[in-house]
Amino acid sequence: MARKGQLDADGSSEFRGLLREARQQLLRTVVMTDGDLASLSDHEPGSLVEDSARAAMADLLARLEGRERHELDEIQAAQARLETGSFGVCEDCGATIPLPRLRAVPWARHCLGCQARDERPSDVRS
Ligand SMILES: [Zn+2]
Repeated sequence: MARKGQLDADGSSEFRGLLREARQQLLRTVVMTDGDLASLSDHEPGSLVEDSARAAMADLLARLEGRERHELDEIQAAQARLETGSFGVCEDCGATIPLPRLRAVPWARHCLGCQARDERPSDVRS
């Protein structure tokens, strides 16, 4: 099964959706109303954002706890990688990250091998 790593258009839109969903879920923990959420979710990284919206976003980010803040950063970095075509490639060894792993953790930066070296989780199978 020699499949190439790059996502096709369908794969890209699948992960674009997954990342957007994850981001909204995260923001939902600090956003009070659906209206706030709707206006924020329109603002993808790289798009032009009005000053007022940017201020609202900064205010929200200030309310996020450290861990969630970090996760949001990761999600946004993954969204950027999706746009530049480097999404799904391990940052350490350059290997393709398997789709099931990306579906579980769409913002994963590393393949399982490199991740295991970094974190040594107990349940990794080789
Ligand atoms: Zn790797």
